[in-house]
Amino acid sequence: MKLPVVLAALLALALPATAAAQPAPPTAPRLTVVISVDQLSTELWNQYRPTFRGGLARLSREALAFDGYQAHAATETCPGHSTILTGAHPARTGIVANNWIDQRVARPKKEVYCAEDVARTPASGYTVSLANLRVPTLGDRLKAARPGSRVVSVAGKDRAAAMLGGRSADQVWWWSGGDFTSNLTARPAPAVARANAAIAQRLAQPRQALIPPPHCESRARSITLPGGRVLNTNRFARAAGDNAAFRLSPEMDAATLALGAALADELQLGRRQGQTDLLALGLSATDYIGHAYGSGGLEMCLQLASLDRDLGDFLRHLDRTVGDYMVVLTADHGVLDVPERGTRPGSRRLDAALTVKALDDAIRPGLGLTAPALLGEGIGGDLYVSAALPSATRERVMAEAERRLRAHPDVHSVHRGVQIARLPVPTGPASRWTVPQRIRASYDPARSGDLYVVLKEGIQPIATPGPTYAATHGSVWDYDRRVPLLFWRGPMARGPGGEAMTVDIAPTLARVLGVPVPAGEMDGRPLDLPRNNDILERPRTQ
Ligand code: ZN
Repeated sequence: MKLPVVLAALLALALPATAAAQPAPPTAPRLTVVISVDQLSTELWNQYRPTFRGGLARLSREALAFDGYQAHAATETCPGHSTILTGAHPARTGIVANNWIDQRVARPKKEVYCAEDVARTPASGYTVSLANLRVPTLGDRLKAARPGSRVVSVAGKDRAAAMLGGRSADQVWWWSGGDFTSNLTARPAPAVARANAAIAQRLAQPRQALIPPPHCESRARSITLPGGRVLNTNRFARAAGDNAAFRLSPEMDAATLALGAALADELQLGRRQGQTDLLALGLSATDYIGHAYGSGGLEMCLQLASLDRDLGDFLRHLDRTVGDYMVVLTADHGVLDVPERGTRPGSRRLDAALTVKALDDAIRPGLGLTAPALLGEGIGGDLYVSAALPSATRERVMAEAERRLRAHPDVHSVHRGVQIARLPVPTGPASRWTVPQRIRASYDPARSGDLYVVLKEGIQPIATPGPTYAATHGSVWDYDRRVPLLFWRGPMARGPGGEAMTVDIAPTLARVLGVPVPAGEMDGRPLDLPRNNDILERPRTQ
């Protein structure tokens, strides 16, 4: 009796495109703007809230705020963005890391990028694709329910733009390093060509150093990192034509917001009677700056002050052109500051001798192995055992790796994929999840490691700071998991929103927008917004 089930499933897949469009509820906002500020941790948000004067001040003052969690262990950009508009943990989205290792792929390079298509690897680099994403986004569901809706996604990073937008988005754009580009957009918009021309003109001019606002001046005490780089001195002066400095500065987010506004104008987002549109924005500069300079210094202070101002301009543009719109602001993960700043007592850098290669080199002689037995990007997260080895040898490699890792003072725990796989995907408040439950929420049997290594809380995974990489995220700990989660539609009912997860955003918006979601297709739940009508029927003040 399998066939009818399959037929029914096929029909269900075919239905949304052919069924009559479901009208938007009269209370739905005509435009929903979902903003992900890459690496904006709850710690940063709380620390800077009193200093905001622009768009972030408006959201801080007027939005309904939840204590947000990117609940899973793999607190990286791609998994984080995959949760925001799918309503699903990475275990379900399939986006379990920025990069994973797939030893079965038919090409020499076994590392797979989250937003590529391994079946269509070009001669060099990759083609941006959603082939790895296993679920639809809210935009996909919105387009299926109401084909007249428009879905636009713009981000500094390709993986952010792709994961937020989805397969049926009308426009998906990201920064290539020199301009906004896309291979996911069938019909290019003139707004993008104009934005790129304006950016090129701006890039051709040098930029003066920013003048720190008073609250940033106390952060201007210089810190020297191992290797000699000095922090708290960069005020983002830029030479003419320096693309790298453009991306690694507040200019990147300003350009992303400007393109978002230009596309909103061109596509008349939120201005068409009876339609509900979705605009997703991935603001990547906070992440680039946090990686290069850490999160506690002058550079981050300048970035957040600039973002606050530029977001204020963007929202005022929507006030004028759209009027009634909704904003959701969150982040893909948090961050751990450079330990040299002393922001977090006891924090230190990972032992530089603890690498995958060193571990592999230590294990192989005892087992009589010559070829690499352990594969992975680094210690912390997924480790893979060579699939070329017989299973008894694989078992011995794993046991030996576990023994050595557990003896190291930087390691909190080591988990086997097969054991994680047996756990149910966790539910309930993310703050109470155990470490194995966090790992389970971003575990996929075909993509995750044979082992999962958890570093101790406060261990900065970057052993040796480089020119643009001094601090990072990616851990199971709350400094990487806790993110702002704000809903705004004009001044909202106040009151404690309580704890929520980023996977709750999509089901909440689906309810507000009247987009059907079959039971069991999302991990999140529609948030119980206190005095819910306030979000559905914004008091008309203008
Ligand atoms: Zn990120």
